[in-house]
Amino acid sequence: MINFTVGPVQADDSIRRIGGEQVPYFRTPEFSAVMKENERMFLDLLHAPEGSRAVFITGSGTASMEASIMNVLCEDDRAVVVDGGSFGRRFCELCELYSVDFERISPEFGRALTDDDLKPFEGARGFTAFVVNIHETSTGVLYDLDLISDFCRRNGLLLVVDAISSFLADPLDMGAAGIDVVIAGSQKALACPPGISLIALSPRALARVAAHPSKCMYLDLRSALANGDRGQTPFTPAVGVLLQINQRLREIEERGGVEAEITRTGLLAGDFRRRLAGLPFEITSESLSNAVTPLHPTTAGAKDVVETLKTDYGIWVTPSGGELAQTLLRVGHIGALTVDDNRTLIDALVDMRSRDLI
Ligand SMILES: *Cc1c(COP(=O)(O)O)cnc(C)c1O
Repeated sequence: MINFTVGPVQADDSIRRIGGEQVPYFRTPEFSAVMKENERMFLDLLHAPEGSRAVFITGSGTASMEASIMNVLCEDDRAVVVDGGSFGRRFCELCELYSVDFERISPEFGRALTDDDLKPFEGARGFTAFVVNIHETSTGVLYDLDLISDFCRRNGLLLVVDAISSFLADPLDMGAAGIDVVIAGSQKALACPPGISLIALSPRALARVAAHPSKCMYLDLRSALANGDRGQTPFTPAVGVLLQINQRLREIEERGGVEAEITRTGLLAGDFRRRLAGLPFEITSESLSNAVTPLHPTTAGAKDVVETLKTDYGIWVTPSGGELAQTLLRVGHIGALTVDDNRTLIDALVDMRSRDLI
């Protein structure tokens, strides 16, 4: 199988090899050193401001979305949440669960965020935070970080960014954009197995974490930070995945850093989009991430295309859920993929057309 999904994605051989080894005991100075290095490398790749910290949560990306809302925001906050798809909706549900007052911005399907969307929230009305999945993976729309960042600066809002499918695929400068919380996950562009999600916290976010007691024992960021001081975690983490993350972050540093990784992903996405010309698909997003190409098949059902690619050609692309199931599929460009893999996928689509399946 070739995996063009948005996660879990294909891992390099060096990462897979670590997965084949015995998992070491972790309350050791050696593992603490790995964790301290992981924290440093993650913050460096994000261009995090001085005094930032990062924690590694054992749990998928949603665990860190929940930990961020629960530990950084509180009942006194009033948030603007961008709800442009299923991940945006998840943030809304978390705000409801933790009694954080919020209002949503709901861009239409495939649409970018614009000045007009933000205008109603300009000039206070008691808002304290802005919460966004910078790449809404369910629709493949990348929101304009500069627009959001300027808005938050003007209005003095804390900025929480889920960058789970955007980290390492699109430019993201935590310091320059004034982001307070960045969330990433192991199984997206980090191209490791699922199991770990990462949270970077600015000094302002750290002060908020310190100010309120957590409502959950397992996702208590105060405890995660205190343990992280000595390179440890409160409970047994996904040790193997953390070792794989260490290898992956080192490789990214060695191969030219985050910019080189973003460039590589961007070239792969561009190559795929060029090759797609002439095939019966519409790209449905007006603001694309390098991570994903969202496609509407104009002559067939999306679910059927996904199924045929899987069974007849050994290729996984990402199906969509709910009401989008028959209209939208998504091709990922993250993980260990090559231009040759793009060629294989396009050849399969050309063959499907010759069989009148699209
Ligand atoms: C994948 C993803 C998540 C996390 O999903 P999990 O299944 O919990 O790992 C969150 N936000 C975005 C934008 C994602 O793409």
